Amino acid sequence: MSGSTPPLTIDSPDPARRRFLQIAGQIAGTGLVAAPVAGSLLGASSSPVEAAQQSQQQSQRAAMPPASVTGRPMPQIQKPFPLPPQSRIGFAVVGLGKFALNQIIPSFAESKRSKLVALVSGNREKAEQVAGRYGVDRMAIYDYASFDSLADNAEVDVVYIILPNGLHAEYAIRAAKAGKHVMCEKPMASTVAECEAMIRASLRAGRKLMVAYRAQYEPFNMEAIRLAHSGDLGKLKLVVSDHGRNLNPSDPADQWRMSAKLAGGGALYDIGIYSLQAARYITGEEPEEIHAMIHSTRGDPRFREVEENVTFQLRFPSGVLANCSASYGYADTKRIMVQGSEASLTLDPATDYYEHKLTVTKGKTEERIKFQEGNQFALEMDHFAQSIQEDQPPRTPGEEGLQDVRLMQAIYEAARTGRAVKLEPRIPDVVADVP
Ligand code: NAD
Repeated sequence: MSGSTPPLTIDSPDPARRRFLQIAGQIAGTGLVAAPVAGSLLGASSSPVEAAQQSQQQSQRAAMPPASVTGRPMPQIQKPFPLPPQSRIGFAVVGLGKFALNQIIPSFAESKRSKLVALVSGNREKAEQVAGRYGVDRMAIYDYASFDSLADNAEVDVVYIILPNGLHAEYAIRAAKAGKHVMCEKPMASTVAECEAMIRASLRAGRKLMVAYRAQYEPFNMEAIRLAHSGDLGKLKLVVSDHGRNLNPSDPADQWRMSAKLAGGGALYDIGIYSLQAARYITGEEPEEIHAMIHSTRGDPRFREVEENVTFQLRFPSGVLANCSASYGYADTKRIMVQGSEASLTLDPATDYYEHKLTVTKGKTEERIKFQEGNQFALEMDHFAQSIQEDQPPRTPGEEGLQDVRLMQAIYEAARTGRAVKLEPRIPDVVADVP
């Protein structure tokens, strides 16, 4: 079945081909095909009609596919160009666990301002494997003993801490002392004092500190915030938010979560923080009163040191109430509901990695709000990169993380004492020169 295509002649023996060539010949007369032939004929035109035909034929010819290899000018660009590698902010990821490897490191591929340039891990073999896959220089692999020599790596602008919660403060402070900006996973740290020490270390170093509250960079949550603040729901009355998952002791990523020292707290610290964050970012206010209850299943070895279930209620200065919960004892729940005087919204799932669902209900009308999701991890890293490049404070600075730890401690106190805890409804200042 080989053989070259027969030459284009009108007296071809094949009737179908003859018909094709006749049509082609007619079209050639209008300049639609056979451009080289038409071009030579058109060169001889002299009358105005012929000149007009020639110009029409030339523009039609321009729309034809090129006959040979060519380099066209820039097409219309639909997405903004990413920054070139040399202009991006370099990140060192500390801790190559489940979250770092499944969500954060792959998301650098979707970022526009951030790049992965260094790794910190106690397991050299794993780090080399990750470095190989993501194009990180082997010389930029550190362990916890050599961590401080990140100071000598000018490629590293940001140290992103993705370690168990109880280790955040130590490594954030060491990173600031090494002259680096710090991005830290939630919860920021175990105690208020640790959070304050982290903020002071960054202030003293003249570097930025951001808590990786991804929901505040995730488009559906941003839209829920916009709707709540715009008045589209009427006057805000109630925020309800629940987060739950089953703690799995056979998963190494859940083993440190059973230790009070490494986790700082239980379901509240790990996922209740999303319910608390939701109440704060939806209202845009700080609570002035907290009530809470805690219960853990007796005899369940998972809950010897950390709590299983927590419910808490918040009163905000405007009168909005929040009813929140967290649990390590039931299957995946990640829900936010906002009730306004005119309409309500439900975000469920609200704080997943992908596939959020936002509905607004007004009377009997329910509207599902859809738009392109984006990669929230890339968006939050790029936000921090931009805040460094433009020397602006990040949207979720250390003070935001400190406030949540302060409120979570108040929730524990309210549950322990059975009494309401009253607070100043504002984020306290942390001053650098206070020890
Ligand atoms: P993980 O156990 O999978 O990862 C922790 C990493 O820290 C591991 O690589 C481990 O080897 C290392 N590590 C170093 N010293 C350790 C020690 N003394 N004990 C235990 N591990 C030690 O945990 P993860 O689920 O990836 O969580 C890490 C951090 O990320 C936590 O702060 C967690 O709250 C946060 N996180 C955030 C999200 C989010 O959606 N933002 C999701 C998951 C986890």
